[in-house]
Amino acid sequence: MNIHEYQAKQLLARHGVAVPAGDPCKTVEEARVAATKLFAAGHPLAVVKSQIHAGGRGKGTFKHGFQGGVKLAKSVEEAVNFADNMLGKVLVTKQTGPEGRLVQTILVAAAESIRMEFYLAVLLDRNVSRPLIMASTEGGVEIEEVAEKSPEKIIREHVDPAVGLMPYQTRKIASALGLKGDLFNQACKLIAAVYKTWWESDASMVEINPLCIVEGPGGKESIVAVDAKIGLDENALYRHPDIAAMRDLAEESPLEVEASKHALNYIKLDGNIACLVNGAGLAMSTMDIIKHFGGDPANFLDVGGGASKDQVSAAFKIILSDASVKAILVNIFGGIMDCNVIATGIVEAVRETGLKLPLVVRLEGNNVAAGKKTLAESGLTIIGGDSMADAAQKVVKTLRPA
Ligand code: GDP
Ligand code: MG
Repeated sequence: MNIHEYQAKQLLARHGVAVPAGDPCKTVEEARVAATKLFAAGHPLAVVKSQIHAGGRGKGTFKHGFQGGVKLAKSVEEAVNFADNMLGKVLVTKQTGPEGRLVQTILVAAAESIRMEFYLAVLLDRNVSRPLIMASTEGGVEIEEVAEKSPEKIIREHVDPAVGLMPYQTRKIASALGLKGDLFNQACKLIAAVYKTWWESDASMVEINPLCIVEGPGGKESIVAVDAKIGLDENALYRHPDIAAMRDLAEESPLEVEASKHALNYIKLDGNIACLVNGAGLAMSTMDIIKHFGGDPANFLDVGGGASKDQVSAAFKIILSDASVKAILVNIFGGIMDCNVIATGIVEAVRETGLKLPLVVRLEGNNVAAGKKTLAESGLTIIGGDSMADAAQKVVKTLRPA
């Protein structure tokens, strides 16, 4: 699960990371209040930032032609004008794809006077099964670009999860970033706080790009997280009801949201053969075998080990709401699952939805005879598959001109 920048900054601030003052706003009026507050507090500049689950906002363009999803405002009126050009508008960035994302929230924050931009991230390095801290003096640009053009500029520090981040490691990173004196000490504290945020939140990734040296009133320099992105491990969300409440369903694909309501694991893909399968491994091999016989899967859909009739019915409806689906393959192995429950669910769903698309069903395992009988006696046009290969070939064939 991903959260918005303003939410990521709330989590970081809770663990002691310095972030600019600011408020999330959903209306232009709220933006006016937030900007007025900032200018009244003596900040010379405000920054208005589109909140979408995608990066590259600064260089993005709105569909109505407005340039930039991150804008610096010199007055309340200017901030209000930016808010008006962002809220309810669609922002296209390098990461959103051509369809862009609807901006429903903006962050109105104190704009920092930036002296230097760094990159700092904590993620899980699966190759060595350890947390990895990555830092670079090349902040504000995409890290992939830095990795390609000047990989030597990326600092990597693995953390032993049993011991935790050691003070010598934060000093090593701060020193590699070229920091000295008070900024060095601030950076050490900040790196430890960012790591703590990652660890305590069960995050998969915390990325601060840019992490900035900023100049405050009187010329005093400090280190502030100007942008923030946090990805969370959904399997651990139950431990963090406060973070789970940050979920923004508007940022997720509507079909995937509907699927998660029924505890279905659904991911939309580009092909036209929908699959309904129980078990993630079987779902993957079903997709493979469809490909093997020249077809293209329209989705990954795992109804789980013990799916109910209602879940099967919900799964059918989700599949059918995808206009690119031209045929359906059901591949069920009844271990825990009773094949007859699935068969009954299929028959009900086909009747309810008035399914016109070719449907191939392969059932195997627990109570399979009863399941097959239910399908046969339904009077519906359902093509039976004897094996996985047979079913896959049959479903691919339904799409070929005779
Ligand atoms: P992204 O484009 O989605 O990564 O959004 P960022 O929050 O990183 O903002 C993009 C760029 O806008 C940053 O790299 C900064 O150069 C600039 N920017 C963002 N916030 C501020 C700010 O408070 N002050 C100044 N001067 N520039 C900012
Ligand atoms: Mg950024």
